[in-house]
Amino acid sequence: MEANINLWQSVLSSLENKISKTNLVTWFRDIDIKQQKNNQIIISVPNIFVREWLHNKFEKDLIEAFQKFSPNIKDIKYVISKPSSEIESQKLNKKTKNLINDIAQPKIEFSQNRLSGLNPKYTFKNFIVGEFNQLAHACAISILKNPNSINPLFVHSGVGLGKTHLLEAIGNEIINSRRKKKVKYIPCPNFTSQIITAIRNQGIEKVVEMYSNYDVLIIDDIEFIAGKERTQEVFFRVFNNIKENDNQIIISSDRPPKAIENLEARLRSRFEGGMIVDITFPEYEERLAILEQKLEEKGGILPQEILEFIAKNIKKNIRELEGALIRSLIIFEQERSFEKVKKALEEIISEPKKRISAEKVIQIVCDFYNISSREVLSKTRKKEVVLPRQVIMYFLREEINLSLPSIGVKLGNKDHTTVGYACEKVGEKIRKDVDFLKDFEVIKERIYNS
Ligand code: ADP
Ligand code: MG
Repeated sequence: MEANINLWQSVLSSLENKISKTNLVTWFRDIDIKQQKNNQIIISVPNIFVREWLHNKFEKDLIEAFQKFSPNIKDIKYVISKPSSEIESQKLNKKTKNLINDIAQPKIEFSQNRLSGLNPKYTFKNFIVGEFNQLAHACAISILKNPNSINPLFVHSGVGLGKTHLLEAIGNEIINSRRKKKVKYIPCPNFTSQIITAIRNQGIEKVVEMYSNYDVLIIDDIEFIAGKERTQEVFFRVFNNIKENDNQIIISSDRPPKAIENLEARLRSRFEGGMIVDITFPEYEERLAILEQKLEEKGGILPQEILEFIAKNIKKNIRELEGALIRSLIIFEQERSFEKVKKALEEIISEPKKRISAEKVIQIVCDFYNISSREVLSKTRKKEVVLPRQVIMYFLREEINLSLPSIGVKLGNKDHTTVGYACEKVGEKIRKDVDFLKDFEVIKERIYNS
């Protein structure tokens, strides 16, 4: 037993170089080595989800890591820690396995059209329209019917509400309409990195020319252009060229143009020169309709009460709705029990989040940064205290939805403007600093699992 624990610890620490902290915490936490049999290592995993993830995404890394300490190992066998579900899980049919594969590999690069960058899975056929996205949808249709009627179209919303789906659906529709239009879809971070490479190779003019030649240019998540001066400069030129040629530009962002910081005024005014629409949150009935349609697409069966439970509890993100649906399908297929599904969904539904106390958040963040809560509540401006304090403020605001003044009070009577500033700062850091984002995910994981 002891030997197994030591082996697992060694394997974990050698995986640290290869796998992000967030992934390690999420997928490798509740694992034990059961047995080593000839060339096979048997490990126990908490559920079928973890098994599929490890098998699909990390098996190669895992075997390599084991081989460092036990060179004979060639193969891994997973058992689910609860014996009965191990037998059940063998019965999982192919359809469910495909579903799990879908979530395990959400981005399948080769399915994208290499020239246009579009993913053909996003169409209007599987885009559900409700009051929350009606205007954005109407603008899209208008562009299809009367090219140039809206130019640029600027769509904004929070995450997971269908911007990418809608933008790509427009592109796919144009490509499929045999109008022989040159369409390009590009996420802004990719655009930016192309510009950086082009600057290095003195190829900026070529890039400007290439992008200026598209009939339809779709740029996703334009907020990433904030503060990137050269990219803004290039995009400004491309934008003007496309408009001059009477061609179409479609843009998405997580916020309206006026809320994008460090955006050149001339670009902002270009963005505001067309139509700005937002996608809001779907209402309960709309969420239920989305779930019903997605269930039909996937060809699964679930009791209505489960759909209603999901629709009631997941309110702000269509991707999460879909994730909950898939998870429910898998659990229901194994367990045939609403209660079991409910339990499995608890960690992704928003309700339990509200029950987390501010004290708990303070304690976990302080532990993470190795400082005392007394310091965080004090007035000190020491750098190693300021960041954790801001993280706490951000978490209480964005995850627990406390008001700015009440957060101020809980953190040793700070002013609400200080709290507002902290939330902005941390939000920006999350978007720009990948290492920080990973830390933040670990903190989040610890808080929700505490
Ligand atoms: P965003 O780009 O706003 O973050 P996405 O377009 O990536 O959101 O949408 C997240 C997920 O939800 C995708 O799987 C997408 O297909 C699905 N989705 C979003 N809006 C709709 C909709 N109106 N109808 C059907 N599926 C949707
Ligand atoms: Mg998107």
